[in-house]
Formats: sequence, C-alpha cells, structure tokens
Amino acid sequence: MSFSFQCTTCNEIHKGLPSFGPDAPHSYDILSDLDQENKAVLGSDNCIIENEYFFVRGRLELPIHGFDRSFVWLVWCSLSRESYELWADSFDKLEREHIGPFFGWLNTDLPFYENTLNLATSVRLVDGGIRPSVDVYEAEHGLYFDQTNRISVAKAEQFVHDLLHPR
Ligand SMILES: [Zn+2]
Repeated sequence: MSFSFQCTTCNEIHKGLPSFGPDAPHSYDILSDLDQENKAVLGSDNCIIENEYFFVRGRLELPIHGFDRSFVWLVWCSLSRESYELWADSFDKLEREHIGPFFGWLNTDLPFYENTLNLATSVRLVDGGIRPSVDVYEAEHGLYFDQTNRISVAKAEQFVHDLLHPR
C-alpha cells in the first residue's frame, strides 16, 4: 500500500513519504557566518567544527501502523572522534553493518516535539550506500515513544502536511 492522502490545504493528493530534515547540524547553524566559514567543514553527510566536534547525518525512522515504510527524519548526530573516523573509513564500503553501532547525541531539533537536542541515540551503519540508521535510546520523550510504538497514519499525514505547508 502506498502512502497518499488528499490535502485539506491545497486539495492536491500528496503521494509518498518524503524525508525531512535540516542540511546542517544545530551546532553549525548557530555559528556566525564567519565561524561557519573559518572553523567548520560541512558536507552532505558530515560536519566537523573546530576539528573537535564531529557530526554525521542519519535516518531516524518512525514506523507507521499498517505500512511497511516509515516516516523518515533526516537528523544529525554528534559522534566521538573515534566513531567518526570509523564512519569516515567505511563511507565508500558497501558492507559496513558489522562496524559499530556508535553512540551519538542528537544534534537536530525536530519540529512537532519538545526539544530533541542531545537525546542519546545509537547510530548503526547500513550497507549499500544508505545513510546510518538512528535509534533513540529509551527516554521519557515523545520521539522515543513514536519510534518504539509506531505512529498512526493520521500522524504521518499531519507531519507531511505541516512540513509541506509551514504555518
Ligand atoms: Zn497540500
């Protein structure tokens, strides 16, 4: 079953489940333009600040009741230098699931949730050129609850709607 719904705002049928998430870690976004240029390196999948703080981009999946596909947040996680180096060494390898998992601090403040910065996560490498999978550690937090218990179709539709039509 493919995911689609008729939108109450624009009347279009929105098809599929696009991934959403910022192009840089929160710690990068809050730097001044000058510091972003001089103290940080930002790629599509990685970021290093002051050669001391290391971030990688992953997929935080929220399974949906009744669907075999998940709603995916693209998120950034802060890794230790050691973990980051293992991530970097395996970037071009097709088989890498045996490496890790790595501990990471979530460095993306997701919409629709209470502050998600610095939630503890497990970052698992995925084979075949797919970004790492990010699992939230057990916490009294809605994001952990949703990832563990699945979200309703209505909630997934609400997310897609609100992201496509920001208020
Ligand atoms: Zn719409």
